[in-house]
Amino acid sequence: TDTDAGGRAQGRATVGTGTTADELIRFDRVTKRFGSNTVLDSLDFRVFPKKHVTLIGPSGSGKTTILRLLMTLLKPDEGTITVDGTPLSHEERNGKLVPAGEKHVREVRKNMGMVFQQFNLFPHMSVLRNITEAPVQVLGMSRDEAAERALELLDMVGLKDRSDTYPGRLSGGQQQRVAIARALAMRPKVLLLDEVTSALDPELVAGVLDLLRDIARTTDITMLCVTHEMSFARDISDCVMMFDEGKVIEFGHPEKMFGDPEQERTREFLSAVL
Ligand code: ADP
Repeated sequence: TDTDAGGRAQGRATVGTGTTADELIRFDRVTKRFGSNTVLDSLDFRVFPKKHVTLIGPSGSGKTTILRLLMTLLKPDEGTITVDGTPLSHEERNGKLVPAGEKHVREVRKNMGMVFQQFNLFPHMSVLRNITEAPVQVLGMSRDEAAERALELLDMVGLKDRSDTYPGRLSGGQQQRVAIARALAMRPKVLLLDEVTSALDPELVAGVLDLLRDIARTTDITMLCVTHEMSFARDISDCVMMFDEGKVIEFGHPEKMFGDPEQERTREFLSAVL
């Protein structure tokens, strides 16, 4: 694991090393406001492939907004978000940079898989169909191929025998496993995890976190993770980024961030949640 990322975030928070061409995620002076509330304030950071980043910080500090911007569910007011070298908000047409059309947005969104706090499975579709729907509709995969891949993923998440079940008959932990399989079925470059265990009964949390630990260890996927599970964050993260008032106020290796943070604000926050 690289320990290059770290320190007080005066400059750009960087996770991993490489050239600009290698960067997977890049935020350049991204500002997002809701009315008069500036949620992200000229935010800069970049993440190289295969890195696992945990976003921490007080409620309302803009962590979920970052994931929603990456999913193109929101647009920044200012600044540029670039994923794998392609800006989300603009595309080149006839040599000119123009605001992104729907097709461009659909293409760049394919890089992202997101898992939400509330699972968000389709209740009227079987488990298998939940997983195959997007690969068939969006990637144009055949039903057979999508089903074969879905069964592999269900096996990985420990639910191979539940493919015909409807989500309402599964526990929260099982539903979240299906949601993880559904996100991975699109073979995204980045997995965005938004407090995925917050809505689970306590006894179901560990199983889902263990699954995510396995995925982090055994796949090449890049992860951006918002979580309050600090021991999980410590296990999987190459870098922890602490947000406050719309900025990264500190970032670094989890040992450093949890063991000996530089910023008083980070200390306060961690002593409240640990
Ligand atoms: P976090 O994930 O760190 O708790 P969020 O990104 O969810 O923070 O929210 C940051 C701020 O943006 C909060 O003050 C929240 O109320 C506000 N916010 C988020 N989404 C919206 C929205 N759709 N409309 C208005 N305000 C929003």
